[in-house]
Amino acid sequence: METLKLYVAGEWRQGRGERFCSTYPADGTVNAWLHAASLDDVELAVSAAERAWREPEWRNMLPHQRAAILHRVGDLISARLEPLAQRQTRDNGKPLAESRGLVASAAATAHYFAAVCEVMEGELPPQRSPDFITLSGYEPIGVVAAITPWNSPIASEMQKVAPALAAGNAVVLKPAEATPLMALELAALFEEAGLPPGLFSVLPGKGSIVGEALARHPLVKKISFTGGTRTGRMLAHVAADKLISTSLELGGKSPTIVLDDADPEQAARGICYGIFSSAGQACIAGSRLFVHRRLYQPLLDRLLTLTQELRIGDPLQPGIHIGPLINAAHYQSVAGYVALAREEGGEILCGGEAPADPTLAQGSWFLPTIITGLNNRARVCQEEIFGPVLVVMPFDDEAELIAQANDSLYGLAAGIWTRDITRALRLAEKLETGTVWINTYKVFSISTPFGGVKESGLGREKGLQGIKAWMQQKSIYLATTPAVNGWSD
Ligand code: NAD
Repeated sequence: METLKLYVAGEWRQGRGERFCSTYPADGTVNAWLHAASLDDVELAVSAAERAWREPEWRNMLPHQRAAILHRVGDLISARLEPLAQRQTRDNGKPLAESRGLVASAAATAHYFAAVCEVMEGELPPQRSPDFITLSGYEPIGVVAAITPWNSPIASEMQKVAPALAAGNAVVLKPAEATPLMALELAALFEEAGLPPGLFSVLPGKGSIVGEALARHPLVKKISFTGGTRTGRMLAHVAADKLISTSLELGGKSPTIVLDDADPEQAARGICYGIFSSAGQACIAGSRLFVHRRLYQPLLDRLLTLTQELRIGDPLQPGIHIGPLINAAHYQSVAGYVALAREEGGEILCGGEAPADPTLAQGSWFLPTIITGLNNRARVCQEEIFGPVLVVMPFDDEAELIAQANDSLYGLAAGIWTRDITRALRLAEKLETGTVWINTYKVFSISTPFGGVKESGLGREKGLQGIKAWMQQKSIYLATTPAVNGWSD
């Protein structure tokens, strides 16, 4: 049985925290044992990061040289796509096809931020006086903390680590306790690609111990967090106390809207993927569906048929759409919400329980579930379930629709299905979300900024500006005439 070491301060060493394991969610078999990081490991990683960040080897490394390391990492990931995807599926139970997509996106992220780092420019603001010119450039922040969730490990981790290193920082990454494997794979890849030691450490372990100690460490100058809103709010308090910047990618309860002129077949397929891929364990899952009353019944019928055709099973096998939930505790939480929907008067049209298949008894599968008969104020429409549960509601007019779609604490994403692009753009403007998909859902591009409004987060990742979240701006005034000041006359 594999026993993994952690990558701390440029060395592979056994964690000094409690022993735990990564398990395959499909059957509970152990993938690997490891010891969590201890508080001493946090100290070791952060102080090494602080030293490494100040070393001339890194401080003097030019952007195109940092870019070369990131390109090498991107190439290494692409060359090992299949074993990495299998490992990710073993770690968190996502169907293999989805894991392949996430691994490919991690490679693309490395290349993208390599390119951004090489071409990004400072500013020469317009002159406001004949006596001086100003220059404004971007510098790294120093030691930064990245804290990530379990649902899309390699992609969400690379989304932080690549721009942070491209920007010239040192990064300490705390992956979710349930899914430590991909972060450690990334550490090995960066080491192989020639990243100087100490600039990247990976500290698996509990959030309340390792994550919190990392966030609170005085030498950590930025916290970038992806995870639940409650944890994000707590970390925002920590950042406020330290007066450091924070980026938060948090939960969602995204509305999908089907207008009366939509292509019902295209919409039904997109909606099905948008809520049930990753077994609904996605921040952007389209979990509230509003359908124009004219299309309501035919669309619901088609959605039911498509949902019942989804293949449920071992996520390492080809053609599987629905893998297991991450663990039994999460199953209980999802099942609790379905019970709540029943109590609130909802009708469960399909799913709502574990599959009967005895070969799936060792994992925590939950059948894709469609609920009707509720309105948007129901708790299952207001709270993030993070599972394969869709609530479908009819609407009659646009004003009522917008009010309901926006009646949410969250504001991560939304979907619109219609043949009328002008109408779609008008609606998109009114939706209080960070992303709107029109006639598609849950597609991503690294060159397009992503993030939430309201309780779905603060700040944006990805895109050309994404690197600036990991930098601070410095302005320089340069006299062009003999020294003048406010007392000169
Ligand atoms: P979580 O908030 O429980 O944990 C996320 C990370 O924070 C983990 O690494 C965890 O160990 C750590 N953590 C927990 N408590 C901490 C503390 N006190 N101090 C420091 N770190 C701590 O979330 P989760 O259950 O792992 O992930 C699911 C949530 O993530 C969902 O709400 C989902 O919507 C959200 N999410 C958001 C996005 C996005 O981009 N907006 C993407 C994926 C997941």
